[in-house]
Amino acid sequence: MAIIEVTNLKKSFGTLDVLKQITFQVNKNDVVAVIGPSGSGKSTMLRSLVHLEQINGGSINVAGDYLVKDGVYSKPQEIKRITSKMGMVFQHFNLFPHLTVQENLELAPKMVKREPSAELRRRSTGLLEKVGLAERASAYPAKLSGGQKQRVAIARALMMNPEILLFDEPTSALDPELTGEVLQVMKSLAEEHMTMIVVTHEMGFAKEVANQVMFMDHGEIIETGHPEQLFTTPRFDRTKAFLNRSW
Ligand code: ADP
Ligand code: MG
Repeated sequence: MAIIEVTNLKKSFGTLDVLKQITFQVNKNDVVAVIGPSGSGKSTMLRSLVHLEQINGGSINVAGDYLVKDGVYSKPQEIKRITSKMGMVFQHFNLFPHLTVQENLELAPKMVKREPSAELRRRSTGLLEKVGLAERASAYPAKLSGGQKQRVAIARALMMNPEILLFDEPTSALDPELTGEVLQVMKSLAEEHMTMIVVTHEMGFAKEVANQVMFMDHGEIIETGHPEQLFTTPRFDRTKAFLNRSW
């Protein structure tokens, strides 16, 4: 069952066509790895799904509801409701520096859902345990390593109970020795059948964890396939050329 359905999505910045009529589906419980060269439109595609970018044409349907249909957006209340089904984790963590780890987790659900504070505390404590950071609950982000910051960002996204998690190069800003702890958390989410779209350069992660790999180049989806197929027998020269680079 498709949980995200994107049809003929177009996005331009001025005269630059960044996404050229892209169409794809993500099914519930899929882990989709999105790969492709820098500038191919991967971030813009993710940002469009959560309405951080306004698209210029096409449709985005999330869990049966149109965020935008044939270029026409739903009403603001609807947009909020639909985008709240998705959580996003950014390359640069985007934690609030003046809030503790636990306050970072609790802020959005407190504001948006007006959840009672005891319940918030119970859930945030549980999620910090899940990402291995229970003992850093009262630390400020500046005191954390990059890997810890990113695990906090993942726990924060989970606080909103998203149906889908989007990751934009979650390990690209990390020292190599810190990527493993973040990928491990993502892998455990995949094992719990969280639906995820992960823009990544971690080909090992894509091979091991994703059930679908999408290769983008110049604003187009060149091919999509099971990792075993796409990595071993890519159908298109552009995919081959990209994969033949050293990673
Ligand atoms: P990727 O994530 O694959 O590296 P992006 O989606 O970030 O690619 O960018 C795709 C293209 O869109 C690039 O050419 C980039 O320079 C351009 N671009 C991205 N954001 C903006 C923006 N806000 N204004 C103008 N051009 C942008
Ligand atoms: Mg990007």
